[in-house]
Amino acid sequence: MFDNLSEKLDKALHVLKGHGQITEINVAETVKEVRRALLDADVNFKIAKEFTNRVREKALGQNVLTTLQPGQLMVKIVKDELTELMGGDAEGIDLSGNPSVILMSGLQGSGKTTFSGKLANYLKTKKTKKPLLVACDVYRPAAIDQLHIVGEQVGVEVYSDRGNNDPVAIAKAGISQAKSLGCNVVIIDTAGRLAVDQEMMDEIANIHKAVKPQETLFVVDSMTGQDAVNTAKAFNDILNFDGVILTKLDGDTRGGAAISIKSVVDKPIKFIGTGEKMEAIDVFHPSRMADRILG
Ligand code: GDP
Repeated sequence: MFDNLSEKLDKALHVLKGHGQITEINVAETVKEVRRALLDADVNFKIAKEFTNRVREKALGQNVLTTLQPGQLMVKIVKDELTELMGGDAEGIDLSGNPSVILMSGLQGSGKTTFSGKLANYLKTKKTKKPLLVACDVYRPAAIDQLHIVGEQVGVEVYSDRGNNDPVAIAKAGISQAKSLGCNVVIIDTAGRLAVDQEMMDEIANIHKAVKPQETLFVVDSMTGQDAVNTAKAFNDILNFDGVILTKLDGDTRGGAAISIKSVVDKPIKFIGTGEKMEAIDVFHPSRMADRILG
């Protein structure tokens, strides 16, 4: 995960570590290299610039030039800033409702259906909850089938209504079904499109208004880089969602989405998807991710 970025940051900080005499020029060079590494990882230009400005200020403020181990101090400064950028402390999801309603949003192919299954499995095994999955994609019969397959894999019931083409009605009926089955979490999987369009936005906004979810989660494919950030912004403008799910972090992603998304939408990344299997879900911890990136 993020091997390329790790390697580049390591190299940037090594320059400083290797020098006997640390000068302001070394610090400036290091900061420049860090910025280059972030840009290479597809981090938004403005974010990378602000990030490195903060690193520079901190380095000078903490008198990095006069400390015994300037390299280590720089690593710490970069790590702290990276953690902050990705969201500070980890946040959980709100399961206080009865049932708690969790609404999934995102583009087609982002990994919503897969993640719905993973989350149901996670809540069932880790939080001893009884979830119900609800299939609200009325356009693609295959999407309903897929949710049923996922439900079967994790041993969680799935509510669907194939003849019905009103996703709001299905979502509401799903919640009623959860109540009668004694389920305390309802995970609503919705239809996505290949790109942001008004119809999809209206539909998800209507479902959101009708079911008033405790948690609205935005699912995004981390491989899409800067696009991931733009899509997040579009969905957040409509839904004011509660958290981000970054999928496909097991792939060859450069990491820009993970690093930029929090500062663009000011919403935490709550979980990451790290594979196609139902167990490939992790709670997102910014500090652990920063540790990982900086090796
Ligand atoms: P949806 O259209 O948003 O519901 O997306 P899907 O759940 O159908 O996922 C699209 C594709 O991405 C499927 O082939 C999934 O198996 C795959 N996928 C989903 N999450 C992950 C992940 O975390 N890692 C990898 N490698 N593949 C994933």
